[in-house]
Amino acid sequence: MVIEARAKTHLELKNKQHQLNLTRGTLDNIIHHLPVFVAYWDEELDNIFCNDVDGKWFGITAKDMLDKGLTDVIHQHEALDSAATSVLLAALDQVMLGKTMGFDLTFNASSSDVVFASVSLVPTLVEGKFNGFVMLLNDITPMKVLQHDLHLDKELLKVTLNSIGDAVITTDANGIVNFMNPIASSLTGWRVEDAVDKPIEDIMPLTDSSGHFSIINPIYIAIKECRIVGMAFNTLLHTRQQKKLEVEDSAAPILDEHGQIKGAIIVFHDVSETRAMALKMSHLANHDSLTNLPNRMLLQDRAERAINMADRNNEKVAMLMIDIDNFKSVNDSVGHKKGDLLLKKIANRLLENSRNVDTVSRQGGDEFIILQPDITKLDQVASYAQRILALFEAPFYVDDNRFALSCSIGLSVYPDDAMSIDMLQKHSDLAMYRAKELGRAHWRFYADEIGTSVLARHKLEQYLRHAVQDGLFEVYYQAKVDSRNNQLVGMEALLRLPSAEGGFISPAEFIPLAEECGQIVPIGNFVMRKACEDAISWQKM
Ligand code: GH3
Ligand code: MG
Repeated sequence: MVIEARAKTHLELKNKQHQLNLTRGTLDNIIHHLPVFVAYWDEELDNIFCNDVDGKWFGITAKDMLDKGLTDVIHQHEALDSAATSVLLAALDQVMLGKTMGFDLTFNASSSDVVFASVSLVPTLVEGKFNGFVMLLNDITPMKVLQHDLHLDKELLKVTLNSIGDAVITTDANGIVNFMNPIASSLTGWRVEDAVDKPIEDIMPLTDSSGHFSIINPIYIAIKECRIVGMAFNTLLHTRQQKKLEVEDSAAPILDEHGQIKGAIIVFHDVSETRAMALKMSHLANHDSLTNLPNRMLLQDRAERAINMADRNNEKVAMLMIDIDNFKSVNDSVGHKKGDLLLKKIANRLLENSRNVDTVSRQGGDEFIILQPDITKLDQVASYAQRILALFEAPFYVDDNRFALSCSIGLSVYPDDAMSIDMLQKHSDLAMYRAKELGRAHWRFYADEIGTSVLARHKLEQYLRHAVQDGLFEVYYQAKVDSRNNQLVGMEALLRLPSAEGGFISPAEFIPLAEECGQIVPIGNFVMRKACEDAISWQKM
C-alpha cells in the first residue's frame, strides 16, 4: 500500500517535472527568439542569463557571458565607447539603489550590428534589498534612421521655403495658418508668430482689382474641391499696413498617405512691379518716343478694330494722312532740336482737336495719321480735314520762335476706297501727294483722283459676274433701213444690262470694267448666241 502510494507520488512528480521542463523549454525558446536583448545579472553584477546566443549586442555569446561580470563584458568587448559606458555605469548606480532606469544608448557599430538601443534596467529586490537586475535592450536603429532622415527632410524644406523668392503659407484643413515663410511674412506684413493660428483670410485678405470686392482665398477652394487652384487675375492682397499689392499664384491641397486632406498650401508673389514694367514696355512698343502718340503698331491695331466695328455697324473708317509743308526749312533755320519741340506742339494741337474715338498717330518724320472710326457720311471727313487746315492758321511757338505752318492732307475711306488697312494707307498717301501738287495747304479724297470709288467698281464687278452666270443681260435690236427704198437691210444687236435697282447700267460704265476683269469674252459669246437664235426664230415666223 505504501509502495503503491510512493510509486504514485513518484509518477506524479515525474509528470510535473516533465511538464515543468516543457514549459521551461518553451519559455527559453520564446526568450531566445525575442527581438530584444534580455539578460539577468545578480547582486554582484555577474551574468546569470542572457538570450543573445550569437553575441550580437556586446560581441560575446550568451554562453561566454554566463558568470562574467558586467564591467568585464563592457570593457573587454568595447561595444560601448567611453561616453556610453559612463552613462550605463551611472545608471547602474541608480539601479542598485532600487530605481528602474530607461534611456537610449549608442553601441559601436564595429563590434555589433546594433547602433541605437533603448535601454531598460529593472532591479529585483528581495526584502527591499538589491538582488540583481534585468537588462532589456531594444534595437531602435531603424526608428533613429527614420527620425534622422525626417529631420534632414524638414531642414531641407525649411531652408528651401526660407530661401525661395515666392511667399508660402500653409494652413490646416480649416484654413488656419500653421506656417509662413519670411517672404510671406514681408508681403503680408504679418509676423510669423502673430499669423500662426489665425484664419488665412485674416492674414492675406484678397479683393478684386477695384479693392472693394472680397475674393475667397484659393486655399478654401483647394481644400473644398481637393484640387490645385490658380489665383484669379488682377487680385489685390491687402497687407497688414493697409497697402495693396497685386499678387498672383496658386493654392494646392496637402494630402496624407491615405489621400485625406490635412491642409493646404498657397504660393504667391508680388506682381505689381512686373505689371508696371510690362505696361511701360507695352507703352514704349506702341508709342512714338518724341510725341508720345500711338505709333505705326498701335495704329495698325486700332485700324483693325475700327474696320471690324465698321463692318458690323455698316459704317465707314476714314484715314487722314497729314504731312507738314516745308518742314525741312524749319530744321534748317532753327535746328533739329527746336524742330522736335515744334513736332510735339503740332502733335498736341492735333490731339486736342480730335474726338476720343479717333487715333492721332505719328508715323515718323513730319507725318501724322488720324484714324476716324464710326463715320457715316463722307461730309464728316471732309469738314474734319477742313478744320485741320484751319488749325494750322494759328502760328506755333517754340521758345521765342514763331512758326507759321501749313499741312497737306490725303483722305481715304474704308470700304469706299480700299478694302484693307494697307490699301487705306497707300491711298491716303497718294491723295496727300496730290494735295501737295495742288500747291500744299490742301486736302484731297483718294476717290477724287480716280473718278469712281473702289467700292462702286467692286460692287459692279460682282454684279457683272452674277449677270453673266444668270443670264441677266438683254439684247435689244435696232433695224437698219436703206433710206432710198425704206428696205430693211439688217439689224444691230445692242447689249443692255438692267440694274438691280431698276433702269439700266450704262454700257459706257460696264463695258470697260468687263474688259478689265475678263468678263467681256463670255458676254460676247452670249450676245452672238442670242442674236443668232433670235434671227432664226424670226425667219421661222
Ligand atoms: P513737303 O512740303 O514736301 O512735305 O516738304 P518737307 O520739307 O516737309 O519735306 P518732307 O515732308 O519730305 O520731309 C520731312 C522733313 O522733316 C525731313 C526732315 O528734315 C524733317 N524731319 C523728319 N523727322 C524729323 C524729326 O524727328 N525731327 C525733326 N526735327 N525733323 C524731322
Ligand atoms: Mg513734310
